[in-house]
This record gives sequence, structure tokens and C-alpha cells, in this order.
Amino acid sequence: MALRAAVTRAGGPLRAAFPARTAKASRGYAAAAQARSVLENELAAIRAAGTWKGERVIKSKQGAHIHVDGSRGDILNFCANNYLGLSSHPEVVQAGVDALKMYGAGLSSVRFICGTQDIHKDLEQKLAKFHEREDCILYASCFDANAGLFEVLLGPDDAVLSDELNHASIIDGIRLCRAKRFRYKHMDLNDLEDKLKEAESSRLRLVVTDGVFSMDGDIAPLQGICDLAEKYGAMVFIDECHATGFLGARGRGTDELLGVMDRVQIVNSTLGKALGGAAGGYTVGPKPLIELLRQRSRPYLFSNSLPPPVVGSATRAVELLLASNEIAQSMAAKTMRFRNAMTQAGFTISGAAHPICPVMLGDAQLASLMADDMLNFGVYVIGFSYPVVPKGKARIRVQISAAHTDQDIDHCVDAFIQTGRKHGVIS
Ligand code: PLP
Repeated sequence: MALRAAVTRAGGPLRAAFPARTAKASRGYAAAAQARSVLENELAAIRAAGTWKGERVIKSKQGAHIHVDGSRGDILNFCANNYLGLSSHPEVVQAGVDALKMYGAGLSSVRFICGTQDIHKDLEQKLAKFHEREDCILYASCFDANAGLFEVLLGPDDAVLSDELNHASIIDGIRLCRAKRFRYKHMDLNDLEDKLKEAESSRLRLVVTDGVFSMDGDIAPLQGICDLAEKYGAMVFIDECHATGFLGARGRGTDELLGVMDRVQIVNSTLGKALGGAAGGYTVGPKPLIELLRQRSRPYLFSNSLPPPVVGSATRAVELLLASNEIAQSMAAKTMRFRNAMTQAGFTISGAAHPICPVMLGDAQLASLMADDMLNFGVYVIGFSYPVVPKGKARIRVQISAAHTDQDIDHCVDAFIQTGRKHGVIS
């Protein structure tokens, strides 16, 4: 607005008074107009490709039952990463309120200047204990934890071996480091072994994988990966965003589920999904690594501390999980209820026994139409299609939460059966 006003004024008496400034302003205006047109073309291309990501507006807390702008009444939410239902758990919310009152809204600082409170140290200790690792460092997000790790740990003499379907933040983090890069085929141990042989002359070797891959809900073959890593003298890193809090008998994650907690050296995960759902990420692993990250990791050094209410809520979530595995277990039972009922109804559900339950449909338009129809039955789910998933593998990704009741799950299955029949997916 200010620029437009300045340019308009420039046509009048101001032109004579400030000719040089006016010429600069109109060049600035032309540059902004050119950028606007480039951006608008880009946006039009996304719309034309059918890959536009719309955002529905929620007018309530996150939870199993939500209010969505434009829809009447309660909507059943089956597309959040709120695996344990802790996002609006009363104790988790209260802990955030208490921390806000006691420690304020934020630190106005990065950790190493004046941004470390006792609650940050306490949460780091609890997370290290939860994962049974030596130490922990907090970040503003797991995206940051992934962006900040590899550059610090690996140099040009080292090698990183990464699953081709790893999360975007891992891919970006690896791009920032100077190690030799090897991309192995998705969960393919033979290909990983070939790449480990190629990397044998490197100083350090790090195998990098998501514990759970979020598009398919498939679980990395960690026992085989650890066997190979040990055979070729490599370390193992896992991203546990879709596992922390609920996979394994005590919800410790994929490494607990597959019995390799003592064979995986480094874990990154998020506070923004099962652990209260606010924001934040972290690395747990060997003490010297965590200490070096505090010295050198750029997203840690150059970005603000986690706000106290976020730390308070996450701490309570971790305490709940350290005290009991009841919530994690109830989520597992609900996942099996959904998977079994859907399979019996004739749907194909991809992945293993994970609360990410992709209902495979193949066709992109079908996935989008069915997701829209599900909303008419009061169920909020999202269709995923290319380029988020491979061509011809469109699906509706359902995510089960401990906050869903058995009735919620049965209602969701009924809605799928009715919309599936309408669209000829099942008979
Ligand atoms: N890694 C994986 C596998 C994820 O799914 C996500 C989030 O979608 C992230 C990292 C980033 O986590 P955060 O939201 O804490 O930045």
C-alpha cells in the first residue's frame, strides 16, 4: 500500500521535488509487479496440475471431535498426528498454562545467550531417559533437528546412506552436509548393503532412515539395518516422528518395537505429534554428539528457545508416558479395530500395524471425491495423490488416535463403506 501510494504521489507535485527518489520508487514498483506476475503464474500452474493444497479451518481444540468452518456440528477427525490424543489432554493443557504463568510467554533469546530455563533442561533429561540415550538437545522443531544434525556430525571424509523415501527434512539436512551421499532403494537391504560396500573407505558411515514412513505407515526393517550397519562399521540414525510415544510395548518407538534400542545410536523426533502436539523437536544420542550440536548446530544456535508453555505441555506428556503405557496400548487396540473392519469390508489398507492406515484407491480424483463425501458423513479425512505419493497410488490416509472411541471408529468404517459403495470401490 505504502509503495502504491508513493508511486501515485510520484505522478503529482512530489515528482518535481524528489525526482531521483521517484525514479527509484517506480523501478521498485516494476520489480514488485514483475515478481507478482511470476508468482501468480506459478500459483496458476499448481492449480492447473490439480495439486493445490487447500486448508480447512478448525474452530475448536485439536481432538477426535472438532468443529470445522463451513460444516455443521461435530466432525470426527481422522487425519491428525494426535496419536495419543494428548493435544487437548486436560493435564497437558494445564501444564502449559502453569508454565506460561510461571515462566512467561517466551525467552526473547536463543539458548546459549539467555534462553535456557530449568524447564528446558528438565525436558531434555526426561526425553533422554524416555529414549534410554545419554543426552538430549531441544530444537524449535524436528525439521530443525534434522536440518542441524548431519552437517555437524559428518564431513567430506564421511558417508551418509539414506532411504530414498526419507522425510523432506532429512533430505534437506543431508543436502547441507558435505559427506558423500548414497541413496538406497526404499527399505531394500540388498541395495543398502551394496551402498555400504561402496562407502567402506569413508571415515564415518551413517545409515539414515525414518522409523515409520508417514505416507504408507510402513516400518523400517531396523533389525536388518542394524545387522548390516554392524557388519560394515556404520552407525544408525532414525527419525521417530511417527513412532515416539506409541510404538513398542512402552511407546518408546520403532527401536523398542523391533528390539534394537541399544543398536540405534541417534534418534530425532518431534514434540509436535504424539507428545502433546504443540511444536518442538529433539535429538537424543551419545553425550559428545549432543555437546557438539550445542556448539555448532545452526538451527539451535541461531533460532529462539522453545516457549515455556510448549515445554510445560510436552514435559507433562512425557511424564504421562513414563508413568504408564496404558494410552499407547489403547491406541494399538483401536488401530487393529479399524484395520480389521476395513479389510473385512473389502478395502485395501497399506502398511503394518501402525495407526497410519492408508486406504488405497489408486485414482487421484476418486481419492479426493471420496474424502469430500466422507465429510458429508461427519468424518474429516484427506486424499493424497501425486506428487505427494507415486502416480496411481492415490489414497485416503486415515490416522487413528487413542482419543477415538470404538463408536468413532465404527462410524468412520460405516462412512467408508457407504462412500466406497457409492463410488464402486467395494460391492
Ligand atoms: N520428520 C518426519 C518423518 C515428519 O513427519 C515430520 C513432520 O511432518 C518432521 C520430521 C518434522 O517435524 P516437525 O513438525 O517437528 O518439524
